[in-house]
Amino acid sequence: MPLVTTTEMFKKAYAGGYAVGAFNVNNMEIVQGITEACQEQHAPVVLQVSKGARAYANHTYLVKMVEAAVQECPDIPIALHLDHGPDFETCKSCIDGGFTSVMIDCSSKPFDENVEITKKVVEYAHAHGVVVEAELGTLAGVEDDVQVSAEDSSYTHPEEVEEFVTRTGCDSLAIAIGTSHGAYKFTPEQCTRNEKGILVPPPLRFDVLEEVSKRLPGFPIVLHGSSSVPQNFVDIINAHGGKMPDAIGIPEEELRKAASMSVCKINIDSDIRLAITATIREYFDEHPDHFDPRQYLKPARQAVKDMVAHKLVNVLGCNGKA
Ligand SMILES: [Zn+2]
Repeated sequence: MPLVTTTEMFKKAYAGGYAVGAFNVNNMEIVQGITEACQEQHAPVVLQVSKGARAYANHTYLVKMVEAAVQECPDIPIALHLDHGPDFETCKSCIDGGFTSVMIDCSSKPFDENVEITKKVVEYAHAHGVVVEAELGTLAGVEDDVQVSAEDSSYTHPEEVEEFVTRTGCDSLAIAIGTSHGAYKFTPEQCTRNEKGILVPPPLRFDVLEEVSKRLPGFPIVLHGSSSVPQNFVDIINAHGGKMPDAIGIPEEELRKAASMSVCKINIDSDIRLAITATIREYFDEHPDHFDPRQYLKPARQAVKDMVAHKLVNVLGCNGKA
């Protein structure tokens, strides 16, 4: 099947109490690792491209790699989505350039300005058969080159969501309930420690999610910054010359719970980076004489595939839903 929008995916995910994975793609190995896992698990998937990915790999290369995945994975629906579109022009360029979904992120702007720009993107997107994700509330953390401190982040105000969705006509809404971008989602001071001394992050604000869902019945909600930063990857990285002390993510049980509620799309990027980096660091340590990139990128791609398969089955619940 050709690239699809997320409309049907989200409708089924909402009704079925699961979420679709949205994985960031930056190169061929990442595209292959994700889509091979989804094809094997028969899972729908959103492949998303950030502004940084377009700057790194070039728009045309990314679109063509995703088109190749569509051809290689004929049994599963795949959407191509712009992650964190910063302005109308970037969104337009992706809509004109073959994307089936775009995010316009004006969440750092005042409410009325967010509405105005989002509405403009929605009008252009819908006229071209493309769907739009918008955002209310600000996540902490680092996304591409944009850093938001914990003090500047803010939870979504549920009382704003109906007006925002009605005025903009957006198709899905990213909200802030305590997730965060990057591999250092919380400082040790924000966390507690369990009996083994391991950091436990503050719980997500499910009360905010519930209030939003009550006000927007049937409407698909999106969670950004939802990598869980698996400790085994961090340990491998640190054991092989890396230095990532206190890297921490969102516990998978919490994401699972969100997926069973109104959350239809869960964004995962850092876990892909960690899988690749852990695998390559370990490989280099064990094979100091190897220099063919295919030798170390092959297990790195396999690590992405294994990690994604785990998320599909154990976190998102979207396996078998294609
Ligand atoms: Zn994000």
